[in-house]
Amino acid sequence: MKETKKRTLYECSHARVKGESIYCDKGYTLCIRPGDGHLEISRLAGGQRLALSICQSCPDYDSMGPPVPPEERGWLKKKVMK
Ligand code: SF4
Repeated sequence: MKETKKRTLYECSHARVKGESIYCDKGYTLCIRPGDGHLEISRLAGGQRLALSICQSCPDYDSMGPPVPPEERGWLKKKVMK
């Protein structure tokens, strides 16, 4: 199925990975659940789309290039297929 064009964390230079979490170096809250506003890295590992609503209208979005195709996201699915 073709995906509609949305901004994702894969394309923004401000999305960073540290330890077991993904965070925004501009200080935006990526996860609304109680805590530090960071996302669990398992969402990246699982190849989720990561098109967060906060990024869609963010004034600090900084594109690093074209979207990452779904087949190149994540690494857990690839391990299962072996
Ligand atoms: S679009 Fe905005 S909120 Fe999303 S990662 Fe980039 S700077 Fe952070």
